[in-house]
Amino acid sequence: MPNHIPLSQPDLGDAEISAVVDVLRSGRLSIGPQQEAFEHAVARRSGRMHGVAVNSGTAGLHLALLALGIGPGDEVITTPFSFVASANVILMVGATPVFVDVCPRSLNLEPAGVEAAVTERTRAILAVEVFGNTTHMAALEAVARKHEIPLVEDCCEALGGRDATGRDAGGFGRVGVYGFYPNKQVTTGEGGMIVTDDDQLADLCRSLRNQGRAVNAHSGLAGRIGSWLTHERLGFNCRLSEIAAALGVVQMQRLDEMLEKRRRVAGWYTQHLMDAPELVLPQPEPGSEGQHSWFVYVVRLSSGFGPAERDAVIDGLRKHDIGASNYFPCIHLQPFYREVLGDLSGRFPVAERASGKTIALPFFPDLDETRVELVCRRLRDLIAAEGLRRA
Ligand SMILES: *Cc1c(COP(=O)(O)O)cnc(C)c1O
Repeated sequence: MPNHIPLSQPDLGDAEISAVVDVLRSGRLSIGPQQEAFEHAVARRSGRMHGVAVNSGTAGLHLALLALGIGPGDEVITTPFSFVASANVILMVGATPVFVDVCPRSLNLEPAGVEAAVTERTRAILAVEVFGNTTHMAALEAVARKHEIPLVEDCCEALGGRDATGRDAGGFGRVGVYGFYPNKQVTTGEGGMIVTDDDQLADLCRSLRNQGRAVNAHSGLAGRIGSWLTHERLGFNCRLSEIAAALGVVQMQRLDEMLEKRRRVAGWYTQHLMDAPELVLPQPEPGSEGQHSWFVYVVRLSSGFGPAERDAVIDGLRKHDIGASNYFPCIHLQPFYREVLGDLSGRFPVAERASGKTIALPFFPDLDETRVELVCRRLRDLIAAEGLRRA
């Protein structure tokens, strides 16, 4: 499909390709220097002491909750407006997700609502920087501190961003987690990273990702029988391969360049859509615009339109070979959440209303202005047609 405009596309060049080939030639495919270099790069960029590379963002969040000792009987406050993994990990450790409605502007958790939802069983707040937006993260950090519970920062969509006061995404929680799926700002194909300043928590995560081995476990190939087959706890295999980590090292070197390209694409969209009265455009935290890490470009239809019109617009874009998606359906309305938590529909009206109006448009570093203009023209035509059909 020559005219196809995908929803997302990784930005990979010769440097990434040769880094991966070098690893293949080296023969060292796991637990090696690339993992360490990647961990240092991500930790440094987040202003953190430790980075623990894992094989997905979901695995990182899962291990972080386990390392914090969260389990059955515990409540974790989180957002219904996110990718499903941020709530799934709470269920995975046997705890109960307690959803709180979001702020209508940023679509992030509303700090006052979070505070009101704290009970004696609350063991953590798991907050998401939705679409890279850093709004309210400092306030959520303050709520967590006041109640002496950890903030877990799902910064999977915010790598490299800063809030209005210049604080780094990934630096708000006791622990933060990034994801490196191909649509993220940095990709390793699949991958994730836990970042924290807490030495013990970092070591526990390192052990949990590596079959419950001690952090300094060695294979003993140098002569004596090592600690490689000694397992101190029930662990997982969440290690990131050297092939993936090498990709990550190069992508981190290019992060600022790629974020700048993303900012430029977002600027074109805003320029071509800002006079459309039927649209609410994405707004980074006021004051953070120049350092916002753009993950996606998600517009919302204005109040006159509902989910049916929104779905029709997305279908229309797809018929024109333009990638588009409904980021995000509410988590509490997902079929298996209805089974686990019962019918919560209507309980988080801001999240529900927003999720019926969102349209994620094609967004990636190498998108050019001509294609942005084409997407905007199609989008406006489709919205006009829906408007006429309603009238
Ligand atoms: C991408 C993402 C994740 C999960 O990352 P994976 O690497 O796909 O497991 C978690 N939370 C949010 C908000 C995400 O966007």
